[in-house]
Amino acid sequence: MVAVSLHEVINPATEAVVDRVVRTSVAEVDAAVARARAAFPAWAAVSPGDRARLLRRFAAAVDADGEHLASLEVANAGHTITNARWEAGNARDVIDYYAGAPERLFGRQIPVAGGVNITFHEPLGVVGVIVPWNFPMPIAAWGFAPALAAGNTVVLKPAEVTPLTALRLGHLAMEAGIPPEVFQVIPGQGSVVGQRLVDHPDVRKIVFTGSTEVGRSVMVGAAATMTRITLELGGKSANIVFADADLERAAATAPYAVFDNAGQDCCARSRILVERSVHDRFMALLIPAVAGVRVGDPTREDTEMGPLISAAHRESVAAYVPEGAPVAFRGTVPDGPGFWYPPTVLAPVEMSDRAFREEIFGPVVTVVPFDDEADAIRIANDSPYGLSGSIWTENGGRALRVARGVEAGNLSVNSHSSVRYWTPFGGFKQSGLGRELGPDALSCFTDVKNVFIST
Ligand code: NAP
Ligand code: MG
Repeated sequence: MVAVSLHEVINPATEAVVDRVVRTSVAEVDAAVARARAAFPAWAAVSPGDRARLLRRFAAAVDADGEHLASLEVANAGHTITNARWEAGNARDVIDYYAGAPERLFGRQIPVAGGVNITFHEPLGVVGVIVPWNFPMPIAAWGFAPALAAGNTVVLKPAEVTPLTALRLGHLAMEAGIPPEVFQVIPGQGSVVGQRLVDHPDVRKIVFTGSTEVGRSVMVGAAATMTRITLELGGKSANIVFADADLERAAATAPYAVFDNAGQDCCARSRILVERSVHDRFMALLIPAVAGVRVGDPTREDTEMGPLISAAHRESVAAYVPEGAPVAFRGTVPDGPGFWYPPTVLAPVEMSDRAFREEIFGPVVTVVPFDDEADAIRIANDSPYGLSGSIWTENGGRALRVARGVEAGNLSVNSHSSVRYWTPFGGFKQSGLGRELGPDALSCFTDVKNVFIST
């Protein structure tokens, strides 16, 4: 008999054991991929209308289970209940959105001499989706929903520490009538399960969301068999506040743009750039706004920020705020168990400071002044990352100039939105490769086939 390896799932707000989940072995990954491969031709052949109907039923099942899914995420990831409800709703909406895709996966008829030329968007085969722990439900859905819609079969690996909602989504898909071999969820370790999905010759595409470091190794591994990849990686996004902005609103919203999900957000606006002439006034507005962020029990409806995911992650966040760091403000956290870290503002901070350059992935924000528009763009772009960013100004021309000038995939003007499932999402530079969401994501789950018919 083979010994079964179990992972203890911990509630980061209480440190209590929530569940125990079996770690998938390499042999079991291979078996899952073999099932997915065998199921692929039949799934790709399901008529577009029927595939759409199955996905709509799946979305309806997620909707009906929303409160349960949200409570699982509160217990597993320490997300606030308000956020977790949004996340379950986002997974539902993304499945619903791509349920419209099978019937709209149009090719083209291209005029040529001597015949007729048509193109098809053919599914790839088995798609491996590797998900991080920070937004387990949405990030899983952004991968599996368009993949399934385009006719691929999916093997999904959640982050080892946050498997519960992914397992539940797999179960809901099955209840909705999607064959179990078409969408499989296999929890386990990245170095074992994730690595095997990347290396497996029968996996035709990997969607990886996580750190830039592991993303690089996925890219290297994928090269061996030309496995297609989508990479959604880290960020160090700028929130650029011009002197002519609505400063009250810019300051009131800035904390939520970085401390939401306790800063464990790849789009966190963790560098605030403020025009020098209004820097002091902005700081005077920012500090009370940060002090107003309600940190505590994530099950409470009025809580705005919960704990970090783990003790190890808290240590890595704390290392960015050593003795003598320029702490302009530090919030408070609950006593007792839980991996808490207070909202922290670092200012004035040197631009060479690690805290200003590296992704912290925790509730720590850095503030620096800039001189003019060109200076703001230069500082914003002085980073290997390019995921998102915000621009606050009442000058429409400037808003567009700066939006065009900042090297990042997702920018918002007088707002902090990054992720809207109708629109493309992804990174410039070392923040990633390829785009998720929106109408174009399907092209990342298909290859174009050209057929010429001589007449
Ligand atoms: P991570 O360590 O890179 O892990 C991400 C996923 O990859 C996990 O499922 C992990 O499994 C797995 N993995 C680890 N080693 C692997 C390997 N050798 N081969 C294949 N898979 C492997 O990232 P994380 O610490 O979970 O998440 C934080 C990072 O994700 C941050 O850098 C953040 O910016 C980024 N992120 C980016 C986006 C985006 O859309 N751009 C969104 C969210 C997060 P285990 O959990 O078992 O280690
Ligand atoms: Mg990790």
